[in-house]
Order: sequence, then structure tokens, then C-alpha cells
Amino acid sequence: MNQQANINTQDLQTLDREHHMHPFTDQGDLNNKGTRVISKADGVYIWDSEGHKMLDGMAGLWCVAVGYGRKELAQAAYDQMLELPYYNSFFQCSNPPAIKLAEKLAELAPDHLNNVFFTGSGSESNDTVLRLVRHYWKSKGEAQKSVIISRKNAYHGSTVAGASLGGMKYMHEQGDLPIPGIVHIDQPYWFAEGGDSDPEEFGLERAQQLEAKILELGVNRVAAFIAEPLQGAGGVIIPPASYWPEISRICEKYDILLIADEVITGFGRTGNWFGSETYGIKPDFMPIAKALSSGYLPIGGVMLSDRVAKYLKEEGGEINHGYTYSGHPAAAAVALKNLEIIQNEKLVEKVAEDTGPYLQKRWQELLNHPIVGETRGVGLVCALELVKDKTTRERLAPDGKAGGLCKDFCTQNGLVMRATGDIMLVSPPLVISREEIDELISKARQSLDDTLAAIENGALDE
Ligand SMILES: *Cc1c(COP(=O)(O)O)cnc(C)c1O
Repeated sequence: MNQQANINTQDLQTLDREHHMHPFTDQGDLNNKGTRVISKADGVYIWDSEGHKMLDGMAGLWCVAVGYGRKELAQAAYDQMLELPYYNSFFQCSNPPAIKLAEKLAELAPDHLNNVFFTGSGSESNDTVLRLVRHYWKSKGEAQKSVIISRKNAYHGSTVAGASLGGMKYMHEQGDLPIPGIVHIDQPYWFAEGGDSDPEEFGLERAQQLEAKILELGVNRVAAFIAEPLQGAGGVIIPPASYWPEISRICEKYDILLIADEVITGFGRTGNWFGSETYGIKPDFMPIAKALSSGYLPIGGVMLSDRVAKYLKEEGGEINHGYTYSGHPAAAAVALKNLEIIQNEKLVEKVAEDTGPYLQKRWQELLNHPIVGETRGVGLVCALELVKDKTTRERLAPDGKAGGLCKDFCTQNGLVMRATGDIMLVSPPLVISREEIDELISKARQSLDDTLAAIENGALDE
């Protein structure tokens, strides 16, 4: 790019360093390198301030389902902001876009989910879940039913409740988390933790930890179990087929509410509207966000099952909880238009029948690479494991360094791919074409080659 652009980037980086605290970032490390300033985007591509073009294999942060540059969404926000930019949903007020979005969500969600409580994000949705779950049991006269069981390495957001429900140890370390009344069982992550066991037996065992934990705590104390249909941020961990049916059986047997956190899996990612359909789950609470608005404006929500919603509406009394931006009219108008785009362009069907199977087929080809120990995926979300030894599943040391290297090569090669430790992840926009999938795969392979070459040159030894 020209010199002007370079000067601009440096100025921006300097100002960023001086005034901007970044989430999930080592600020010292960042100060040495400077931020990558992303300045425009179109379709499945983003550009940084120096003009470097990248295929966005992560759809932003799992959210930009309909791709960048959608004029319809900008128009929906513009029109709504002129009509009614803001009003709240407290104190018996509502607004047309929030009402229409609630109706649309009831239409799209599994049959037994017909109510939504609006929030501003996925984290807020999980705060709402925690409050409503405990409020539900308390108002039924079972206040002692307050413990929520979650899983290690789960991701449920970054607020106090979200991070507590989540099972990320490094997050718990900051802020003295988890808060009381939340316990974690092991995750169904066969590749890393399954040893020599059969994956289906392993899935069953991990599900049965839920039953053991319920019995250990006392059935009368357990309020709910929360899980992502497939773990996203934890590394696209796809449970063995045996896992979810057993979890469902246990929740039903002990009358434990089931919370399916669909913040990533909602709105087509797995080839159905919701991951709950893909895995045959019947949740009582379903947090949603991210692809709900394709990230164009912040909005989230919690969908509630008929039995919970009916009880809370008829017997629960006042809900002493809510957000200034619950049911925000402009965000709701954008979300509604976004869902119409997904419907009109048949993106869920496209993921199920065309681009999903195609990405999975092409992604599996990467398994023949010398440092790839496993490939896995469903719909338009995939992961691969970087390893030292393909047969023993021995990892490269030190942990996570190869993943970081590979991610940097991806960036250089014009592909946004995420690293979680030594797991490489992609979750591209639902509008990605077959040609763009080919480009994604060839850039991923090039980056794996570059990573292998760097390792052979001692990159992990320093
Ligand atoms: C991203 C995510 C969240 C948190 O959403 P935010 O909008 O970042 O607060 C919660 N749950 C899951 C499964 C997520 O992937």
C-alpha cells in the first residue's frame, strides 16, 4: 500500500496502545507488535488498514452468518433509527421490531420454545439464565434447588455469571470465580482425554458423570445442567453420538432443567436452525446471540420452553431482572432482517446439503498432513488437532506454540483461522461459496506446510 496508509496505521496503533484496553489480549505483548487494524470488509473477506486482504474463516467471532457488506441490514438499522431509535421493554412497554422478532424466533425455534427474553449479548443471556433458573425453582417452592452443573472447558461468556458457568480455569483465576452454586464435570473430549477407550463408550461415561454429580450433591439441590451442543471456543469439541441422549435421559429422570447454550450453534451453523435439532436435545432454556444479528448490532436472548415460560408468566410474579437494551428496537430490526435473509437465501438448507458437506469433505483431506492428528466438524464448523505423533496423539511441545505459529502463517497467507492451544478452528460465514471453501483449504494447507517447515527449523525449541 502507499505510504499514506502506512502512516495512518502507525498513528492508529500508537493511539490504540495509549488509550484502548483490549479484551482477551496480553497488553504487553500487543504493545510490542501493534494491533492489526481491520478497516473494511465485504462478503467473506476482511481488509486491514494496510490493504492486506484475508478470507475470514471465523465469521468475525462466529457471528457474521450472512457475510459482510449487507446493505439490507444497514437499511433496516437506518429506517428503524429514524422511526424509533430506542425505547425500553420495562414497565409494560414494548416496540414493534422486538415483538416481530419474538414471533419470528418462536416460528424458527424447536416447537416447544415459543418465548424469548431479550438481552444484549451471549454473556448477558447466561446471566439471565442463571437468574431465571433459580427464580423458577424458588417460586415453585424449591429454593434449595439452586446448583447449576456445567463442564470444564465450556465457554458461556465473560460476565461474572457467564465466566462462572464456563469452565475455563484461566478465566476463573481472574475475579475469584466461579461464584457459589456452580460445579463442573468433565467434557466429552475424546481426542485429548479419551485415551485408549472407544469414543462412544467414552461419551457415555462422560455423560454419566452428570448422574454421579447429581447423586453426590443430592437430587433436591440441583437446578439445571448447562452445555453447548458442541463446544465452540473450547476447541470445536464435538461429543460422541452417545453423549447427548444419555444427558437428556439423566435430566429427565431427575427433573433437572436442561440449558443448551446455542450462542454459536444457533441459526444454521450445524446445518439445522439450531444445534439442539442436530443433536436431538430438548432444552428448557436456550441462550442465543452472535448470528442472531450476524453481529451487525449487539443483541442476544434466552428462549424458554413452554412449561417454564407458562409457569413464570402465570405464577412467577415480577421478574426483577432486565437490561436497558433488552428488546432494543434498532438491534431487533436488524436481527429480524438478518433472519429473513437466512430464510430467503435458504442458507440453512445450503449448509445442510451443499457447502456443509463440501467443506467437511475438503477439510478431511487435511488429515493426510504430517502434523494433523484429527480433523472433525459438522455443517460449517471445523477443527483440526496439531500433533507430534499421529498414531499416539502425542502433542507438540510446548503446548499451544505450534497453534500460535500456524495462526500467524494463516494471517500471512490471507486466512483468518483461530488457534485454541494446538487446535485450529474455522467457522466461516454461512454465505461462503464452494470456490471460497477451496481457497480456505488451500491457504490452510499452505499454512500447515509453513508450520511444519518452521518446526523443522527449530521454531518450537527456542
Ligand atoms: C460467545 C459465546 C458466549 C458469549 O457471548 P458474548 O456475546 O461474547 O457475551 C456465550 N456462550 C457461547 C457458547 C459463546 O460462544
